[in-house]
Amino acid sequence: MITIKSDREIELMREAGYMVSKTHKYLKPFIKEGITTKELDRLAEEYIRSMGGVPTCKGFEGFPATLCTSINDEVVHGIPSNRKLKKGDIITIDMVIGYKGYQGDAAWTYKVGDISKEKEYLMEHTEKALYEGIKMVKPGARVGDISAAVEKYARSHNLGIVKELCGHGIGTDMHEDPNVPNYGASGTGPILKAGMVICIEPMLNLGTDDIYEEDDGWTIRTEDGKSAAHYEHTVLITKDGYEILTPRLSIGSIHITIPAF
Ligand code: MG
Repeated sequence: MITIKSDREIELMREAGYMVSKTHKYLKPFIKEGITTKELDRLAEEYIRSMGGVPTCKGFEGFPATLCTSINDEVVHGIPSNRKLKKGDIITIDMVIGYKGYQGDAAWTYKVGDISKEKEYLMEHTEKALYEGIKMVKPGARVGDISAAVEKYARSHNLGIVKELCGHGIGTDMHEDPNVPNYGASGTGPILKAGMVICIEPMLNLGTDDIYEEDDGWTIRTEDGKSAAHYEHTVLITKDGYEILTPRLSIGSIHITIPAF
C-alpha cells in the first residue's frame, strides 16, 4: 500500500530529511585520508542524537551501525570498521534518520583526495542519473517513468546498473511501497500522487551490472571489482511536481525548501 502523507506528516518528514542533509554536510570535512569509517560512524551518531534524531539503520535487522559506508567496489551496506580511507578512494555514505517517527534517507558518494578520471566520471553521471529520475516526478506520472529515465541516462553513459536493489517509498518505515527500480519502461508501474514520498537512488557501476554479497551478510560489491557510486534523495510528490526533502546544503537547488529550525 502506498501511503499519502498528511500536511503534519510531511512537515515531520521535511524535518527528518533536513537532519539527513545537515549530517551529510557535517561529515563532509571529515572525509579525508586516514580517518576510519568507524570514526565517521561515531561522529554521525553523536551529531544525529544531538539534534534529537534517531539513527534508524542501527539495529535494523542486526545492522550494527548508523551509517552504511561503502568504498570503491562496495555498492551499498558497507559496515563501518577500522579500515582507513586512502587517497583516491570513493566512499558512499548512506544514512536514514528518524524524527518523531518519520524517516529521511539520502546517500552521497564522496571522493577522498584526488581520484581517477574514471571515478570522477562515475560520480558525475550517477548523480546526474538521480536528477534525471527526479525530473520525472509529478502527480500522474508513473514509477516506470523514473526507472526508464535513470536507465536511459546510465546506459547512454555506459554505466552498469545494479538491478537487485532499488529505491522505495518512505514514511514511518524507511522502506515502504512502492519499489522504485533503476531500470524499466515508462508508462508502467504505480501512479504517483501528491503526498507520496519516495526515495530515488541509482546505484551505478563503472563495469558490469553484476554484484555479490560479502560473507558478512551485508556488504554488496561489484562482481568485477570496478567502482560503484550511489546517490539518493527523499522526494515528496507535490501538487505540481516535487520537493527534495534531503537537499544538499553545500549546493544550491531551486527545488529546496529549508524549514526554519
Ligand atoms: Mg538510503
